[in-house]
Amino acid sequence: MTRPDVTVLGAGIFGLSIAWCCVKKGASVQVIDPHGPGSGASGGVVGALAPHVPENWNEKKAFQFESLLMAERFWAEVAATSGISPGYARTGRLQPVPDERALELARAREETARELWQGRAVWEVIRPPEDSWAPATPSGYLIRDTLSARMHPRRACRSLAAALQARGVSLAMQGEPEGKVIHATGVAGLEELARETDQPVGSGVKGQGALLQFSAPHAPQLFADAIHIVPHEDGTTAIGSTTEREYDDPVATDARLDEVIERAMRAVPLLSGARVIERWSGLRPRTRSRAPMLGSHPLFEGQFIANGGFKIGFGMAPKVGQVMADLALDGQDVVPQVFRPEASL
Ligand SMILES: Cc1cc2nc3c(=O)[nH]c(=O)nc-3n(C[C@H](O)[C@H](O)[C@H](O)COP(=O)(O)OP(=O)(O)OC[C@H]3O[C@@H](n4cnc5c(N)ncnc54)[C@H](O)[C@@H]3O)c2cc1C
Repeated sequence: MTRPDVTVLGAGIFGLSIAWCCVKKGASVQVIDPHGPGSGASGGVVGALAPHVPENWNEKKAFQFESLLMAERFWAEVAATSGISPGYARTGRLQPVPDERALELARAREETARELWQGRAVWEVIRPPEDSWAPATPSGYLIRDTLSARMHPRRACRSLAAALQARGVSLAMQGEPEGKVIHATGVAGLEELARETDQPVGSGVKGQGALLQFSAPHAPQLFADAIHIVPHEDGTTAIGSTTEREYDDPVATDARLDEVIERAMRAVPLLSGARVIERWSGLRPRTRSRAPMLGSHPLFEGQFIANGGFKIGFGMAPKVGQVMADLALDGQDVVPQVFRPEASL
């Protein structure tokens, strides 16, 4: 390969998506990751692409909304190039409504969604459909939205990596950064930033999830008792996740995951008895502002950073890829103010 236009450090969902968007703009790209694609937080199993609630609109919600709408085309192109399915489908989501107060709120959001989601997706209060696997809902109503989608994180990384290779991108475990350099190094990148600036810029928040042998590939995902229940296209169903600021072992799974699985089975009795085929744990990169960190790298002049995907990195990835490619290749800076590194420094 001749000298690349862009080097992306980190082959998680942020780095791979940025590399993909750079390739699509005609750039030559290399990706370097000492552990290989999808070896960090992005190598998991949950894959809920779920929107923020449609109210109190802000830059972060608008960015995520656009990204969720971009996802269908983004993943279709990746799949067509790689020949590997990322397991994407906009199958929607159902959520139980626990009480009268929540019902009132859900109905108010039905109104605000009409305006904020611009008719491109629906948020509505419904009676549980006869043939659905909806969880029990004390109020007798459910929230249904048509913006939520699902995908399989680990397969999505595999699909993106293969698509990049098909387009001539080198994915290496080591190498010399050349051209425009973009750091998408997840928790390691936040820790480096925190160390070098002596500021609590961000850190890793542990999450544990599980995969069940339960097939419902066309069913909507569920969000019940604060747990994502995500049926995948391959006949498995994911359950997640714990949120742990304190942990001893970032990759161990334990009784906290057992509790999440039990709660999911209680909420959706159909899942009871399903075999647990995988238990998985990873560290989500969380910035101090809880928002993604996109822009000029605070430590390395002329270089860039894309980090802080936290709990919604997969949902944000298509738009993160686009804005970072525009910034690095064209100098076109459309990064929302709240995502700039200064917000966490
Ligand atoms: C249990 C769990 C469930 C989740 N569920 C969802 C969900 O349902 N929906 C959703 O949208 N998000 C979800 N997330 C969050 C999502 O996984 C993260 O936001 C996302 O993976 C972050 O991607 P990343 O590319 O920034 O980081 P990572 O995937 O961690 O990638 C960073 C990469 O950088 C590499 N690296 C480190 N140092 C260097 C270096 N010096 N040079 C080069 N490379 C380096 C690492 O090896 C790693 O591969 C979940 C996370 C967890 C843990």
